Amino acid sequence: MTEFPVQHLSPSSIAMFGRCGRQFMYRYLEGLIIPPGISAIRGTGTHQGVETNLRSIVDDGTPAPIEAVADACRDKINAEWERGVRLLPDEQGQPESTLRGVAIDEAIRLSRTHYDSIAPNLRPVQIERWFELDIPDLPCTIKGRIDLQEANGIRDLKTGKSYPSEDAAARSPQLTWYALAAQALDGTPPDYVALDHLVLTKTGVTVRQQSSMRDPADYSREIVRARLVTESIEHGTFHPAQPDHWCCTPKWCGYWNRCPYGAKQASTVSYAVSGRATSQDTEEQIDE
Ligand code: SF4
Repeated sequence: MTEFPVQHLSPSSIAMFGRCGRQFMYRYLEGLIIPPGISAIRGTGTHQGVETNLRSIVDDGTPAPIEAVADACRDKINAEWERGVRLLPDEQGQPESTLRGVAIDEAIRLSRTHYDSIAPNLRPVQIERWFELDIPDLPCTIKGRIDLQEANGIRDLKTGKSYPSEDAAARSPQLTWYALAAQALDGTPPDYVALDHLVLTKTGVTVRQQSSMRDPADYSREIVRARLVTESIEHGTFHPAQPDHWCCTPKWCGYWNRCPYGAKQASTVSYAVSGRATSQDTEEQIDE
């Protein structure tokens, strides 16, 4: 029996597979790691600033000095930038020092808003908690990291420049995995799951907070989804994204230039396609 080619899946790798199987194949089977874009680095820097504050609250019972939060943002972004950044076409040609400075300023603004408007109302018990789940009949484990656990619930931080959908927390598979992980680690399910959104706008930072709940039916759905992903991997089936999906663009896909469904759209295979007219009924069935 051949060994399953990946040791573990994660909520984000399962989500990537859902969007585009080929992205997953490039990233996790071929090991092609594309440097993150500026927005991802800005998010990582913000998380580092927020973590610095929350860790101080957990360890010492008091917030970290705001200067330490800003330093953590700056240091993290500088370190990530040195590891490599993927500039988008409209960013290329601009001085990198300017782009980096803007990213640092934005991350500090985001983490400061969290510091002032969100953190004072949080009761963190654990932060950045890693987990690895063994699930029956799954040929690999599920690994991940819970941003923040309170006594009765879990929270995740999101940063970006667009507003979340109203039901983002209710529909988030990531929160479902975190709830399942909290139950597996602690023996009791969380009472709630929540998202804290920091939205960077032209005039400032807007906070959106959403909460929801999870039950065993939610867990089952995600486990089935993970199993289907592993079956596709076992069969070597890696579907491309729909060509009009937001992720299938040079902005959002780092594999765009190598992928036959992206920039390299020249197909050498020609298909002899035949067809027939069908009745209205058949068409309606398809639309259903
Ligand atoms: S170019 Fe499109 S199909 Fe190809 S890996 Fe990227 S998202 Fe997937």
